[in-house]
Amino acid sequence: MTVIHVPGSKSGTARALVLAAAANGTSTLVRPLRSDDTEGFAEGLTHLGYRVGQEVDLRHIEGRPSGPAVTDADVHCRDGATTARFLPTLAAAAASGTYRFDASAQMRRRPLAPLTEALRTLGVDLRHDAAERHHSLRISASGIRGGELTLDAGESSQYLPSPGSQNSRTVRVPEPTPSPGVLMSTPPHHPPTSYGSVASCHICGAIPAVHAVVRGHRGLVVTLRFLTEEGAFCRTCGTATYRRMTSDTLWQGWWGLLSVFAAPVTMVMNIGARSRIRALPHPVGNLRPQLAPGRRVLARPPALVIMAALVVALGAVVVPKLIPHTQPTFTAGDCIRNHAKWPEQDLEEVGCSSPEAEYWISDGDKCWGRDWLLYLEYSAEKKTLCAHPMSK
Ligand SMILES: [Zn+2]
Repeated sequence: MTVIHVPGSKSGTARALVLAAAANGTSTLVRPLRSDDTEGFAEGLTHLGYRVGQEVDLRHIEGRPSGPAVTDADVHCRDGATTARFLPTLAAAAASGTYRFDASAQMRRRPLAPLTEALRTLGVDLRHDAAERHHSLRISASGIRGGELTLDAGESSQYLPSPGSQNSRTVRVPEPTPSPGVLMSTPPHHPPTSYGSVASCHICGAIPAVHAVVRGHRGLVVTLRFLTEEGAFCRTCGTATYRRMTSDTLWQGWWGLLSVFAAPVTMVMNIGARSRIRALPHPVGNLRPQLAPGRRVLARPPALVIMAALVVALGAVVVPKLIPHTQPTFTAGDCIRNHAKWPEQDLEEVGCSSPEAEYWISDGDKCWGRDWLLYLEYSAEKKTLCAHPMSK
């Protein structure tokens, strides 16, 4: 898609319209000037078979590098000088067809000599109905053959040819023309690609935008609140909304009884909206301030806190399982101390001469009195062992 930011002038809008008509695919003009001249231009394009769409502040034109879509048309150029000069050149590019152009009485009085001569030099069959080199005129199109052309653009840059021809041409302009309109004699080297209907962002008004539902979740002990923001988002405002909602969900989404399920589901449901918003090109033509996207979700404090908590929780569960638990085993004659309270046993071997030694071990058949029987796991051979209190 090509988005052209048109300066709000009559001449800029007319030049953008003719470029869009001659280009490949659909072009969108953002906030073109609306005036009788530009409306007349758009109407003329429609009569020539170009598809021209209108939305608030936007104009879409399906371009046709091969010229008009119809082979017979009557076009009234009203009072528009650019219309009267540009549209005949578009029509002349058609492979075949008959096109009649007329204009207001005032426009009929203005001469078209350079246009007439230029098109005739390029082999176009152009005839004036009343006065030679004035509207009204008739073009019997059979394509513009290539060639070399000297054009005096000093009078008006509108005479520089529109990029409607498939054949190569060389145009010599004897006098440099001060008008920026000369730029339009350069054919578009990178034709825009086709683009469907264009919505504008409901937050900032920029285009293009895509319809999306961005979700959030807030858990409040027993109640679950599902938050949605729905509308057409441009890439910037959509990214900002997604990041804010997701970050809020990470922060506020865990405090309800069912939130453990609701929060992850909410975030998964946002994936589609996020990828559609992400696929948009950079927005242009915003009418109101855009939302600031801010930092990525994963770089925000809620995500960092949640991730830290997950890491800690994971560590608490997984790490003890990864570290092999070495169970001490004893044989008769060892000395131990118990870190638990009998009959619980958390036994550690200590030196028999150490002051920490509390019990000494004997085989089970030698148990008596105040001895404790050890858990079987403390014997490598699963034999019964006894712990005798050390006599101090
Ligand atoms: Zn926006």
